[in-house]
Amino acid sequence: MHVSVRGGMGVPAAFLALVFFVGVSFFSFRLEGFVGGGSVFFAGGFIFSGRARARGGDTTPAGVLGEAELGAIVKHLSDAVLVYDKDFAVSFFNPAAETLFGLSAGEVVGHRVSPQDAERENWRPLVQVMFPSLAPVMKNLSEAGTNPQVMDISIADPTMELRVITTEINEGPRTFIKIIYDRTKEVAVVKSKSEFMTLASHQLRGPVTNIEWALEALSQDDTLSETNREIARRALDAARQLLIVVEDLLKASQVEEIRFGLKLEPIDLVGFIENLLGEFMPQAKQMGVAIYFDRPKEPLPHIAGDKERLFMVLQNLLDNAIRYNVKNGEVTVKLEKRNDAPFIEVSVKDTGIGMTAEDLEKIFEKFYRAPNALKYNTHGSGLGLYIAKGIIRAHGGKMWAESELNRGSVFYFTLPLEFHAGAGRE
Ligand code: ADP
Repeated sequence: MHVSVRGGMGVPAAFLALVFFVGVSFFSFRLEGFVGGGSVFFAGGFIFSGRARARGGDTTPAGVLGEAELGAIVKHLSDAVLVYDKDFAVSFFNPAAETLFGLSAGEVVGHRVSPQDAERENWRPLVQVMFPSLAPVMKNLSEAGTNPQVMDISIADPTMELRVITTEINEGPRTFIKIIYDRTKEVAVVKSKSEFMTLASHQLRGPVTNIEWALEALSQDDTLSETNREIARRALDAARQLLIVVEDLLKASQVEEIRFGLKLEPIDLVGFIENLLGEFMPQAKQMGVAIYFDRPKEPLPHIAGDKERLFMVLQNLLDNAIRYNVKNGEVTVKLEKRNDAPFIEVSVKDTGIGMTAEDLEKIFEKFYRAPNALKYNTHGSGLGLYIAKGIIRAHGGKMWAESELNRGSVFYFTLPLEFHAGAGRE
């Protein structure tokens, strides 16, 4: 059934060109995942072949290769391919899909897949791919509402890291094609590298901070000779440099971790922010900065978010708002529901050093630090905002800032009231 599937799928030839296009245009996504784009290309090409032949003469691979050859290619693809209709009734399941999901085409083709199928353990991975909101972790790589949708899905028991490209054929009866690339081994390698970086930088930070503290004390010790104090001062400079490197390493490992998808759970943002502000009080007091929380006028629904990651975002914004502030300055955190869209908006406003319009354009780039910030506070990696923006985007929100030199800054971000990430769009 695999090679003669085109007719069996009932996919109108007029729209198959689109699939071919999708195969080509998603080269880039595949490359990002360290693999060639060949299988997506050929899957599109195979389906496209009917169309190409009808037009007569085509120099694309799909035009040059006959249906039988392309059919053989789809059959031997290392990526899983499945086709289904709006009712989730599967009409095509290639051998790679059989291997990946441990189900035979005979069992799956003709079956209308539903969330209830997840009750059967061996069907669970396939159900989670077809209904991504049931997967433990998912990350949308494409804009909501665009076709095709590209999504990374993590599945537990057995552990699987899958990149799923879903294309809807836009004319005729609604038909969907999923091409699934198994990234499990690749993700495991990247994860272990990232975990090592996080562990190493965490382990280094404590001792280096202690060394810095001890050298600071020695460099001010009047009982030492001036020569020895000078040695201590030089060692202190070196320890501070080392601390910056360690902190950069820690931040870089956090950048890596954004790639591993979100662990969503319901969050009461008001309580979440109240807790966080409590933690920042001692630092703010020490810097002589007052913190205010402008609570929403009406109760807000819980949002679906990754607590650890959102904590990192707010921690970075608050840390900046305090560090780049002036003595007796203020920080105001505001939370409100947008009237024009189903989003919650959070803003962190400070009365600090601000920045120029030119800096404002660059601060979300990796490693950028504005000249005034460099002078004002030598510690910093220029990675915090880059990471924060990545996290907010992964949640389906936006992040931006307004600022004026020496007049303070406001950092904003939005979070959707309902987390879609393309899930359940089908
Ligand atoms: P870091 O603070 O470690 O340098 P970030 O990515 O958090 O890195 O910030 C990047 C740059 O953006 C800062 O170096 C600074 O120039 C600017 N910046 C961020 N927040 C503020 C703020 N609240 N006020 C003024 N400048 C800021």
